[in-house]
Amino acid sequence: MRLRILQYGSPVLRAKGARIDQIDERVRQLATDMIETMRAANGVGLAAQQIGQPLQLTVVDVSKVEDRPSTLRLNGKEVDPKTASPLILVNPEIVLGTETSLGIEGCLSFPEITGEIERAETVRAKAQALDGSPIELEASGLLARALQHEVDHLNGILFIDRMNSAAKVALASRLKRMQKETERDIRKTPRALEPETAL
Ligand SMILES: [Zn+2]
Repeated sequence: MRLRILQYGSPVLRAKGARIDQIDERVRQLATDMIETMRAANGVGLAAQQIGQPLQLTVVDVSKVEDRPSTLRLNGKEVDPKTASPLILVNPEIVLGTETSLGIEGCLSFPEITGEIERAETVRAKAQALDGSPIELEASGLLARALQHEVDHLNGILFIDRMNSAAKVALASRLKRMQKETERDIRKTPRALEPETAL
């Protein structure tokens, strides 16, 4: 099922995701729905906060991107990031490499806004797969960038927080407008935008 992607101004985007202790049917369904939602929106990644669930769960898919390469070592083996996509990561923890680079990013919660963000070129991550088994990965390129963007979401951090101050100033009025629109939507349809807290 496709889910509604929440936009900037939704309070849940600022919430730190709770650790998932038990990967039950509901978590598995959520991951399936998140993949469907991400693909329908042509996204490279989606975090649970973006569909209203403050949980440590994210999905990433670089398989449709041709012009920005990635590498991936999964559990010690070099694999094609495209065939390994979508990656579903439960409770991910990442360690950043020391080299950084600038790159353009967008975010499904900020329609039509992009910005140049400095990120580590490589990351190492530990997480759990949907069956509960541990995953260890090392990534570079677009995949490394996407993982940093998504793990930020899981901690309530948004890509605008990482823009330089000139970019923030240039975007300020658009962001304020977006926030106001979202707040108006929430007042009109509170149920649709409130995160469910039962999980
Ligand atoms: Zn995002």
